[in-house]
Formats: sequence, C-alpha cells, structure tokens
Amino acid sequence: MKTPVPLIVIASLLPCTWLIACGAVPIDPLPDTSVQTAPDVVADVAIDINQDITLPDGGADAKKDIDPNAKEICNNGVDDNGDGRIDENCWPAPNLRADETWYDFGTIAIGGAPGMAPTRTFDAPGKDQGMVLVARDITAGQKGYVWAEQLVTPGGLHEIGSGDQWATSPNRAYPSIAGATALIGESPDVTVSAGQWTFGFVRALQVPWQYTGTPAKGFLQVGLLTRPDNTAQKQVAIDLDVFLVGGTTGMTPDVFAKSLQWQQMRGKIEALWNGKDKVQVPIGIVLGNVQFFALDGDAGTKFKYLDNVLAGDDTNELVQVYQATGALRPTSTAATLVLVSALNDNNLSVAAGLSQLGGINGLANSRMSGMAVAIDEKTWNDAVAAGAASTAAADVWGVIIAHEIGHFMGLWHTDEHDGSLHDPLGDTPECQATGTLTPAACGDVIARNLMFWAPDSGGKLLSISADQHAVVRRSPVLHTSP
Ligand SMILES: [Zn+2]
Repeated sequence: MKTPVPLIVIASLLPCTWLIACGAVPIDPLPDTSVQTAPDVVADVAIDINQDITLPDGGADAKKDIDPNAKEICNNGVDDNGDGRIDENCWPAPNLRADETWYDFGTIAIGGAPGMAPTRTFDAPGKDQGMVLVARDITAGQKGYVWAEQLVTPGGLHEIGSGDQWATSPNRAYPSIAGATALIGESPDVTVSAGQWTFGFVRALQVPWQYTGTPAKGFLQVGLLTRPDNTAQKQVAIDLDVFLVGGTTGMTPDVFAKSLQWQQMRGKIEALWNGKDKVQVPIGIVLGNVQFFALDGDAGTKFKYLDNVLAGDDTNELVQVYQATGALRPTSTAATLVLVSALNDNNLSVAAGLSQLGGINGLANSRMSGMAVAIDEKTWNDAVAAGAASTAAADVWGVIIAHEIGHFMGLWHTDEHDGSLHDPLGDTPECQATGTLTPAACGDVIARNLMFWAPDSGGKLLSISADQHAVVRRSPVLHTSP
C-alpha cells in the first residue's frame, strides 16, 4: 500500500497561529538563459554514464569517432565530446558562492519501459560535504513530477529505494513538478561519506502515490551542488533576498529593514537557530547577508495574493512569483524569501508558509531556491499600531520564517497533520493522537517543536532537536559566518 501523503497542511487553529504549511508544492525550474553559466567543472567527480541510459538516437553516436576536444552541442542527446556526459552545461548552473561547486551531470533520458529510472553515480568529494542533488525537467511541453527514486551510499545502503521508500526513507524524496532537490542526509542515519554514490530521479505524470511504475518519457538535467565540510565551524549563516510583494506590510524595503517588526522577526529566527531560545546546539545558524527588495508594478499586484499555489500546471503563481523576483536578482547567490499577503488556492487561504524542502541557493528564478510567507494584513497592522507592546512579529512571522528555513535546510514536519508520516529522526517526538494532530491533542512537548506541522508558539519557547540540527548543518545553503 502506498500511503497518501498530504501535499499541504492547513492549519486554522488559532487566530495568530494558523501556522505553517509545506509539503509537495510544484516547483518550476524553467531555465533562464540570462543566468550566468558556471564553467565546466568535473574535478573529482567521476560520472558513470555507461549504464541504463537510452540515447534518443538509439545509441548511434556511440559508434562514431569522438573528438575529446569537440564542443558539446546542446540538446542533441549526444555525447559530442566523449566525456561521458550528454548535453552537459547546456543549462544554467545555479549562481554559486565562492565556497560552492556545481557538478553538471548532463542530461538523462527517462522513460519508455516499466521499471526503475536510469541511475548515475558520482564520487562524493569528501566526508561531511554539504550536498544537494538537483534534477530539472527539461522536456519540451508538459512538465512532469520529479522525485528521487534511488539513492545508494558508498557502503551500498539503499537510503532511497523503490516503492514506498520514497516517502519513508532516511533521505525522503521530495516530489515536485518540473524538478526536484534532494539533500544528502536528511537523517543522521545517513552518513555523508566520501566515495561513490548512486542516484536516480524519476519523471512521471502522476504523483508518487499514484505512480504505476513506468516513467514518463522525457529528459532530466541533473547535477550536484556542494560546499565543504563545516563541522568545525561554530557558526554558519544563510543569506536571504527578501521581497515585499505588491506592497505587503505597507512599508518600503528600507523602512521594513529598519522596522521594529523585522528586528523582532530576525531576533526570533536567530534565537531559534542560534540556540538562544532553549536548545543546546552543536552549531549556530544566523542570518547572513539579508537584502530587501520590492516587487511592484503589475507583477506585484498579481502576486500579492498568490493563487493556485497547489496547481500542477502553468497557473501556479508560486512558480510564477519566483520567476518575477528572480528577474530582479538574476545573479543572486542567496535564498529567496517572498513576503505576500496570502497564499491561496482557488482563492482560499491554504498556508502561512511554503518552502522548498532541502532547497539550494542560487536558482533565483526557481522555487528550488524559494520560500514564501504570508503576512495577514490585519494582524500586521495591529502589530505595527501596538508598537513595542506587540510581539506578534516575532511570535507569528518570526516563527513561520524560522520554520520555513527549517524545511529549506532539509527538515520535514515531525508529524504530518493526520499522523500518516513522521520525520526520519529518532529524537523528535511523535504525536500519538488520532485525527487531526492539533497542538491541544498532542501536548506542549510535541507542539513546541519548531517543525511540528502547526507549532504552538504563542510566545512560548520552541525547540529544535539535536538530530534536526545535525541535518540542517548539512545544507549547502549555509556558509561560514563572517
Ligand atoms: Zn511546515
């Protein structure tokens, strides 16, 4: 039996804590050719290409003489330069910080016959590297659902296998439309070790729990984003580009940056992730370079109340808003945080926040680098009017943003709203209640974990477990703090 997984959670429990949602929301990695392309880096990554790959021309190119100095001709499905990669560097790499490396694994042809999708292998550069696998659906026309179908460690352990393991493995696969990311090591059970890893992404026209086992024909462009081991660092940072969409908050970026409300939010985010709010943490996470921008004009008006955020097609405005903000910051190496007035589907509010799970920085026009948070106008206006007498900015949006950052760095909900799934971590509490897992039904210990599906803040302390910290430390998004 495949277990249906909630695509999204809807919380409407308390006026100021209708918190947090996430889950499998479509992403759109439409390549933006204005984004700079990184140089061809093969370095110490070996790519095994002689398996499972069906060339569109039936492999005819394998018989012809190959000139190693030949230029790869994009999108012909042929390994023109004989380096084992097909159509490599034909799609923009993410924008990279100085400490990051992008390994372009080229294009994989998917589909045609029942069975597992093709796999590739790579040699991980070193132990405790931060690594995220990225697959972008570059098939012309309809974009498919994409998720990691296989992940095998150098020791031969299948962290993601077939069947139901996509949802329950220690490195859970995140199904998304048109592309997917997979953080290596969503649980301490997965050792991020040097050596040869094997992975496969599947492309399908059904969500995983309706998947029939025959991949949909098409092409995925795959790669790996890494940054060096940071376990010796006492503090690391995440950079953010914050967009006020359509005048959300009623403040200009400059005013917002200096506002009491942003200071409260930032204080809460760092109190949680830098360990000042309760937990003893092995590594501190702070906000690094945070810049503020406005998305105004027609795009701002259109996206202030984001609609169709659950749609699996071109009407999805969550996909579209990142294309609009990315156009303003095409070379950014930060993660994107858009602040809107509502996250709706069919004109109904469905979430307070939506984040890529195990995201990467540097795909500025893609949901794979994005988080979105809704700021309810009345609650916001009341908080601003109350000034220092209100801590709503910290206790509502500070908590939501901190929660979304948790997803972005690779954390699942401790419990999904109906109790059908839990995170793969051994030290986070699981609610034993039945039905919808409300904070009241689950109790304070459970509801106060930051990654509970609807964390009960209300000014109380929230916690993050040691395993949760161990996972997020692996996110390539984090860099050495200045
Ligand atoms: Zn969530």
